[in-house]
Amino acid sequence: MLIQSEYLRIMRVISNNLQAIRQEIQEKAASFGRQNTFIRLVAVSKTRSADEVLTAARLGQRDFGENYAQEGVEKILALREKFGSAEAPLVWHFIGPLQSNKTRLVAEHFDWVHSITRAKIAERLASQRPRHLSPLQVLVEVNVSKEASKSGCALDEVMPLCRLIMTLPGLALRGLMCIPAPTEDFAAQRLPFARLYALWEALRQAGLPLDTLSMGMSGDFPAAICEGSNLVRIGTAIFGART
Ligand SMILES: *Cc1c(COP(=O)(O)O)cnc(C)c1O
Repeated sequence: MLIQSEYLRIMRVISNNLQAIRQEIQEKAASFGRQNTFIRLVAVSKTRSADEVLTAARLGQRDFGENYAQEGVEKILALREKFGSAEAPLVWHFIGPLQSNKTRLVAEHFDWVHSITRAKIAERLASQRPRHLSPLQVLVEVNVSKEASKSGCALDEVMPLCRLIMTLPGLALRGLMCIPAPTEDFAAQRLPFARLYALWEALRQAGLPLDTLSMGMSGDFPAAICEGSNLVRIGTAIFGART
């Protein structure tokens, strides 16, 4: 439990940050001619406490992103108790690397998964998704940086993986996601985002039912919005630096 003064301080910081980020997303979208697109803001709450998530939820934030299955599930359960179902429910996005032995936790508790990189993971999530829940909303993570060390599916593997996901019960294919190598330069940030947008558009032209393009974090979301992102994943700029 947080003492009251500390709670109020965190509340003020998160409130100011959330307001500023929402406004900046609007402003960037308008300046790039995208004012009519809804851009979903996922607040990345990895390493943050359930109280911090609760604070953001009380300020109207609904989408939260987690990287670690166990940590995420603990928060999901804690928030279910603290944040009543009278209010609109929270939406939980799993955005971290996903190992086979963690798929069940994710399938049973999360609403979205952004980080599908191979068939085996998709198949496990599909078979482990409880039938009483709505389908897991999924994105394929793509390696747009052309670095072997970066996670994500190679560009030419994306279409077959998407087609496989479309055949699996319990999963709803929604789009693509990327985490480019960090750089401070705006023009350099745009390149990998433009590459993912082009692929997303090509798959849509080919008839795949994609409506979500998850790209942009605290340090590069303006460039991502410039290149067509409609879902940004922001942690540091909302909750502060992680230790
Ligand atoms: C941590 C993380 C984010 C948020 O990063 P910030 O720089 O704190 O905004 C977004 N996406 C993924 C996949 C992450 O792991």
